Order: sequence, then structure tokens, then C-alpha cells
Amino acid sequence: MPESEPKTFCQDRSKALLLAIVSVAHAERIRCGQPACGHSVFRRIHVVREDGKVLVLGSTCFAKRYGAATALGAARFGGGDGRALTDEECQLLLNNTEALITLFEEESAAIKAAYISPAISSLRPSSAKVSTLQAVPHQHQQETPWAWVKPLSSVIYLMLKDGSGWMRAQRKDGQHLVLPWPVFDGWDEALPPLFGLVDGESGGNVLPDVVAALKYLRDRAEWETKPGRWKDVLAEIARRPSGPGQIKGALVSGLGQAL
Ligand SMILES: [Zn+2]
Repeated sequence: MPESEPKTFCQDRSKALLLAIVSVAHAERIRCGQPACGHSVFRRIHVVREDGKVLVLGSTCFAKRYGAATALGAARFGGGDGRALTDEECQLLLNNTEALITLFEEESAAIKAAYISPAISSLRPSSAKVSTLQAVPHQHQQETPWAWVKPLSSVIYLMLKDGSGWMRAQRKDGQHLVLPWPVFDGWDEALPPLFGLVDGESGGNVLPDVVAALKYLRDRAEWETKPGRWKDVLAEIARRPSGPGQIKGALVSGLGQAL
């Protein structure tokens, strides 16, 4: 091996952080980001932030670049077993790695919140993906009004300037949805086609592109909450002094109905 190959080895490991180890379907395999590698990878893909840049590396090239498979320690998000990405997460890995990392961060924040919360009981995680995350408590309760929500996933609420409010939540199959909150007449025609089809069961739009959908909402938002657990997001909504009073009232009664 040539010793002077440029940028193939990381000189300063302190500038590198292993964010996650992920897997995708073989059909969705991606190009390893190591210079001159050229292999496609699908299992145990290492997502690293090095010197401010995100790198997506096969496990062999990761070990080469940093000196050993364990050189950077445990991954920041998720376990070390190469969690399988949903189709949507896979798209983000290809096209918008930063957005994928933001999703991981949200998920990690939700998991931390679950640890802190004493109100943990009943339902077992029903998604294999959730159980691959090391920090997930074994048991937790359904905490949103919707049974289809992925356990321990985070939600975000956006209040638009037109007075409508929308909750972004994740389904057990990993798909993200946007739902009117509270529900209002004509909500199913309020959003443009980029929000995808309305799912009758959950009462929301299934997002083909969560990043584009959130951007659309943010461009029109009066305010939004931090991503977080359901009860924390509801608490933040209640604290908003600028929220229209009738909407806040409707939120509370909407919650009562939904539960
Ligand atoms: Zn490689």
C-alpha cells in the first residue's frame, strides 16, 4: 500500500466522531466514501463526522482509515449492530445525511427522555429497529393518542401563520406523517401534493419526503416546538403565549377526545 495516499488515513482521530452504524437493503447499497475505494456497501455502514464533514464508509475502510474497527469507540446513536434503515432513512443517507443525523438526534433525545420519565410501563417495543437501540428501556407505554406511533419516537408541532397546527409523528413502520392538530374541516386538502397521500387509518399525510415537508411547514410557521416526546411537546404548546387561545382550548379538548 502506498504510504502517501492522500486523505485515506485520518491523521487526527480526535476530530472524528462515529455517529452511527447502519445497514440498508442490498438493492439500496451505496458507494463507500473512502477515496479510491469504489466498493458499494450495505451492511455495517459507518457514518462518521470528521473535521466537520460527514463520511459514509464501509466497515473495512473505516478500520483502515482510523486504524481499527473500534478506533472511535461506540457509535453516538444506536447500537453497534448496524441498524436497518427504513426506505426513507435510506434516502436521507444518500441525499441528505445531515437530516438523517438530525432524525437520529431526535430519536436519541426521545430515548433519554424515556429514561428520565418514571411513567414507564406496559407495551413492549413492537419494532425490531427500536430494540436494536441499546438505550431503549424494555418496557414503555403508549404515550400518544395514536396506537400506530412508533414507540419512543419523537414528535414536532408546528403552528402555521394561517392558524392551522400540524404534528409530525413517526409510524411503527418508520414512515413519517403529518397530522392536523387539532383536526379541522378541510385539513385533508390543506397541504400540497408533496405531503403525499392521506392515510385514512392514522388521519394524516404519509410523507414521501420528510425534509421537504418540514421545510414547507417551517416556511409558513408562526412557531414550532422542539422535537421531543409527546407530553413534552404538548407542554411546550401549552406554554406558548402567542398560540391562538381557541386553538389551545381545542388542543386540550382534542386530546381528551383522542384519549
Ligand atoms: Zn470502502
